[in-house]
Amino acid sequence: MNAVYNYLNDFLSLFFPDLCCGCGINLVSNESTICTNCTFHLPYTNYYKEPDNRVARQFWGRVPFIHCSAFLHFRKGSKVQNLMHQLKYNNKTDVGLKLGQMYGDQLLRAFESSKPDLIIPVPLHKAKEKKRGYNQSSFFAEGLAIALDIPVDSSSLQRNTFTDSQTRKSRFNRYENMQEVFAVAIPDTLEGKHVLLVDDIITTGATIESCAKALLAIPKVQLSIAAIAFTD
Ligand SMILES: [Zn+2]
Repeated sequence: MNAVYNYLNDFLSLFFPDLCCGCGINLVSNESTICTNCTFHLPYTNYYKEPDNRVARQFWGRVPFIHCSAFLHFRKGSKVQNLMHQLKYNNKTDVGLKLGQMYGDQLLRAFESSKPDLIIPVPLHKAKEKKRGYNQSSFFAEGLAIALDIPVDSSSLQRNTFTDSQTRKSRFNRYENMQEVFAVAIPDTLEGKHVLLVDDIITTGATIESCAKALLAIPKVQLSIAAIAFTD
């Protein structure tokens, strides 16, 4: 039966080939989402091994955390940009799941005795999520959850509506406004928890910082931060 299934699959893939989300070549039957060559050559940061890595340093003095890192380096025109594009704009949610699982295997070693209790993905603007149909960071969170064997909480952290007038303000003012954007629905449920806050790409870190402040306002919450990629 398996042989028939594989044969049928190979036959169908002649007409509807599964393509690698990193480089676009046809995937072979033992590959899914990202080809072996891309998997081998992705620009891994290996920051999970370095407590004072560049992502962590970006948050020093802004947010207290237990662990902070990103999985990949993000550069324009790179395979990582292709992967992020497929994940965000082309319904390839498997990219988030797969990268989350790969990264989760690394993070298991980084956390050792201090594993987080739950994972919270940075919420999207409601209008954006409705248009896209999904939050890409939730799929990354689900992948991490499988590897770390902890749950995902996609409902506690909420993003309030971002008004049009705010987008016209200066960068500084917008940053100030971001402080008010995130809120926790039922803070009691997170009291005393170690939360792993996750996002797709970290650039300035302003979004993570706003989320972190909302979470750290809850008594005895501890925070770790992880992202798929980091803009150097
Ligand atoms: Zn590839």
